[in-house]
Amino acid sequence: MQSSQSRLDAIVAKLRQQKFRITPQRVAILKIFLNSDEHPSVERVYEQVRIDFPTTSLATVYKTVNLLKEIDEILEIGFVDGRNRYDGNKPYPHPHLICMKCKTIMDPEVSSLDHLTAEVEQASGYRILSHQLEFFGICPACQKK
Ligand SMILES: [Zn+2]
Ligand SMILES: [Zn+2]
Repeated sequence: MQSSQSRLDAIVAKLRQQKFRITPQRVAILKIFLNSDEHPSVERVYEQVRIDFPTTSLATVYKTVNLLKEIDEILEIGFVDGRNRYDGNKPYPHPHLICMKCKTIMDPEVSSLDHLTAEVEQASGYRILSHQLEFFGICPACQKK
């Protein structure tokens, strides 16, 4: 596993190639996405980055997300209400566990997904390139309330 610093460096290099201007606040936005395991929304990252960089605009956060999407370094978890959430920690397809009450999103431990992909390929003749798998429920903390 790549350390998060070397991954950050690699992403910054990629963005420079795309002629993206790297400012300290953009690096701060990248760091939040890359290091967060809470699957933040754009608004959440915006709140966090404003602690150190109060002049950051929401548009800058959106622009950074779109660039990360273009270079496949972030996974978008789409929601019908438009409040998408992001995993910059694991930018490849993986299942998610979503609490319908508090909107917590976690990466569940799943061991059989490779089997499932192989089974779908065999049954359909498709070559599977990606998948999106979400489990919806009520998390343990919300069950206690
Ligand atoms: Zn919950
Ligand atoms: Zn995830």
